[in-house]
Amino acid sequence: MNIRTGLGYDVHRLVEGRELWLCGVKIEHTLGLLGHSDADVALHALCDALLGAAALRDIGYYFPDTDPAYKGADSKILLARVVELLADKGFRVGNVDITICAEAPKINPHIPLMRQIVAPLLGVTPDEVGIKATTTEKLGFTGRGEGMAAMAACLIFKD
Ligand code: MG
Repeated sequence: MNIRTGLGYDVHRLVEGRELWLCGVKIEHTLGLLGHSDADVALHALCDALLGAAALRDIGYYFPDTDPAYKGADSKILLARVVELLADKGFRVGNVDITICAEAPKINPHIPLMRQIVAPLLGVTPDEVGIKATTTEKLGFTGRGEGMAAMAACLIFKD
């Protein structure tokens, strides 16, 4: 069996007048993440982890922020496309693990739904989808509420 791991990281700025999407879930908040797509920082980090594991470049390579086709794009669709790219190389997802860094709002109440939404996109069960949230103790740009960051790790395999 060919087993590989990947690592992804992403950051988006928090601004007024935008919806907040994290792991495919719309969360009520006074601010939202700025980006060309829906700016789902967690799914972007996950896409990069998966692409990295398969040595398939990165999310910007496939979905450039200069392409009008991806303006306002639902990142769940981008993630599904990434899973297809991996499948084209014979890879399936084993498990993923995501950490969201945000000072506010509270992310934990949304994690069960996030796992339910992300798992089928990956072809796994929610038991294979780890999602965690942390503050950065008011330190740095996430701590000041200027933006959010996300990290993701994954395992992919082919027989
Ligand atoms: Mg991004």
